[in-house]
Amino acid sequence: MILTGNIGFPTIGPHRELKRVVEGVWRGEKSLDEMIKEREKLLIIRATLQREKNIDFIPCGDFSFYDRMLDLAVSFNCIPKRFKDVRENLYFSLARGTENIPPLKMVKWFNTNYHYIVPEIEKNQKLELRESDVLKDFLFLKKEGFSCIPTIIGPFTFLKLSNTEEPLTTLAEKIIPLYSLLLEKLKQAGAKWISLEEPALVLDVTEEEIKMVKEMYKQIKYNHSIILQTYFESVSFYDEIVNLPVGGTGLDIVNGKENINNLMKYFPEDKLLFLGVINGRNVWKTDIKKTVNVVKRIIEKVNPSICVLQPSTSLMFVPWSLEGEKNMPSEIKQLLAFAVEKLDELSTIKKVIVEGKIKQDTAEFTGIKRENIKNRIANLKESDFQRSLPYKERREKQQKMLNLPLFPTTTIGSFPQDKILRKTRKMYKDNLITEEEYKSFIREKISHVIGLQEGLGLDVFVHGEFERSDMVEYFGEKLEGMMPTENGWVLSYGTRCIRPPIIFGDIERTKSLTKDEIVFAQNLTEKPVKGMLTGAVTILNWSFPREDIPRYEIAYQIALALRDEIRELEENGIKIIQIDEPAFREGLPLKKEKREEYISWAVKAFRLATSGAKPETQIHTHMCYSEFGDIIEAIDALDADVISIEATRSKGEIIQAFENFKYEREIGFGVYDIHSPRIPSTDEMLKIANRALRILKKEQIWINPDCGLKTRNWKEVIPSLRNLVQAARILRKRYTT
Ligand code: GLN
Ligand code: ZN
Repeated sequence: MILTGNIGFPTIGPHRELKRVVEGVWRGEKSLDEMIKEREKLLIIRATLQREKNIDFIPCGDFSFYDRMLDLAVSFNCIPKRFKDVRENLYFSLARGTENIPPLKMVKWFNTNYHYIVPEIEKNQKLELRESDVLKDFLFLKKEGFSCIPTIIGPFTFLKLSNTEEPLTTLAEKIIPLYSLLLEKLKQAGAKWISLEEPALVLDVTEEEIKMVKEMYKQIKYNHSIILQTYFESVSFYDEIVNLPVGGTGLDIVNGKENINNLMKYFPEDKLLFLGVINGRNVWKTDIKKTVNVVKRIIEKVNPSICVLQPSTSLMFVPWSLEGEKNMPSEIKQLLAFAVEKLDELSTIKKVIVEGKIKQDTAEFTGIKRENIKNRIANLKESDFQRSLPYKERREKQQKMLNLPLFPTTTIGSFPQDKILRKTRKMYKDNLITEEEYKSFIREKISHVIGLQEGLGLDVFVHGEFERSDMVEYFGEKLEGMMPTENGWVLSYGTRCIRPPIIFGDIERTKSLTKDEIVFAQNLTEKPVKGMLTGAVTILNWSFPREDIPRYEIAYQIALALRDEIRELEENGIKIIQIDEPAFREGLPLKKEKREEYISWAVKAFRLATSGAKPETQIHTHMCYSEFGDIIEAIDALDADVISIEATRSKGEIIQAFENFKYEREIGFGVYDIHSPRIPSTDEMLKIANRALRILKKEQIWINPDCGLKTRNWKEVIPSLRNLVQAARILRKRYTT
């Protein structure tokens, strides 16, 4: 029997309703009651949609006000001691910190651009099952007439991705009874199946870990009602995993091709097979014919009693619906499927398999080609990836040119984007004000922020990025071959959504991308203003890329556009250029064996963009929210002159990564956590700088926030930057003899 299912649906709502209400609560404009009402409304909309699309296994528990790992941590009472006196809004305080308590750490969820909250399980923490939103949502939806499949992040993934002080096996013994209890409650509430999501099983799992996983799933009660879901890649230890004592197994056959090979060999007869057949990570329509053939081959071979067709991952990584795209050219729109449309595709595939005939062929996509770009890439030489002088020699020239003090201070690029800015931008988009009016408004903002930086006493300035609503979307609008969407929002972290552009053709720069604003800013000050570009790898990783050419080729195309942009900035007197690559690590394949290839072309793409710069031009790069330990060599190989990197939320762990690696370039460990509304003190910032000083030379260290200030407000930013400049001054005094 063939059925359809889903792993998760976007939570944000068709028009980002969730964001509005939750942020309203933070600002004190909305009540908790209103927030709960909105949740219920969204739960019903989502479940109704899925039912209308004939989805048999509709999940619940895939919804969160902030993050599902955080939800689970709170349900299990993993509340770090530092929060013990927080009475009000504990949940959001854990995520965002309070005035004097730093929040939990936040890092990228596998190789996606979603960030999850890292639970902290302290030693001897009393773990117990508190309230669970999954149960609440299940009961609520049941009352509304839906029979859903509760879905929870599984115990292995939960522990593996948490910050723990005890061995995982010890914690497993503590946590399994809690899962059992939760499952029991869900069963009592009427859940037939419960899905446990274990994406961590696609990582390079060790023998010991798989032993632990087996033990966990043996111990957990009601294990035969469990659907073990895996996604993002093929599973390591296929045989062990499909033979775990559970009722069904979910395998991703879009991003885990190895799963197909394994399936063709064996799948246990007595288990439900959940096949991830539709790409939950990209927006192109599924090739129905091809997918049907693969599925048919698999079911003929393994002959499962029930095969459930589902997306390869949760659909939270794609926008809600194409209905939001009113002005998209139809040639492109007809090639796309967002979350709602992907549900339709599932039914179509099922129908074709069951009825045996295909209704319509998918429009075939071959990206728009540009011969000149193709030739430029075909003719690249080794020297196009190499700056004209080695780092040490460049450094001398740059120092002479820039003459910066010890511990130079700077910010990462953006400054607060307030309501008036957003309103003005919208008015411009809606043709209510002219381009000239909009540009003059932006120029005013730039002037203001230059004045502000003068006043604060920063050393290297930025223009504030007011003209950009998003660092990738902005370039997506200006480059040929890619296109922004109108309403294609996806969740990035908490309530923050981004709108990834769609890459549909060869990429070409036909006009200047950033010159007007940067040069305007530079003309206002003697201090150097950084030219601000988003790197090729990040633009690629944060877009929905075409799939008809290899990823590296897309990255090189973007890199060439940036290379030309850098030349133009240099010609216009810009001395420092920052190429942001916050998504550099996130493209890293989950399996170690596939990493080298990625790193090699990703590094080359960065070098292709930057190596045309004059030796005097100081190239900066910025990365954030990743674990850097395992890519430190790649970071070095970028051959950037200065890098800024996140260090506050990971409590300086990143600094440690540099301990064993002789890093010679300059580096700014973010000393100010901009993802939290707190104002960090000078002392806190000094602490991080001092940690860095234990490992690096004073001449190497920059003082800066850990990311752009766009999401903060001026009231937080100004005092924080004042403290930051103060920290640099104290250090300078201390280290200048
Ligand atoms: N320059 C960007 C900014 O400041 C960098 C943002 C990022 O790393 N995500 O907004
Ligand atoms: Zn950043």
